[in-house]
Amino acid sequence: MTEKPLAHSVHLAVDAQRCHSFGLCVALLPHVFVVPPGSPTVILLKTSVDERDRADLEEVVRQCPTQAISIVEGP
Ligand code: SF4
Repeated sequence: MTEKPLAHSVHLAVDAQRCHSFGLCVALLPHVFVVPPGSPTVILLKTSVDERDRADLEEVVRQCPTQAISIVEGP
């Protein structure tokens, strides 16, 4: 059975200047964030998540030590 896509998604952005690749976001949302070995910054696997991941994303935003992640509100 395939999952039906949700109507609402939450967009996010990372400020590469602020990110120091600590990887905390990767631990919390590994299907969204990845830090390849040797990379100076995190890579986004997707720029939006399903609304059901909003709470986890908000937690990542709160816990990022450099405040590099932001939620982009909009359509
Ligand atoms: S938690 Fe913040 S500083 Fe760490 S890898 Fe993620 S975006 Fe970069």
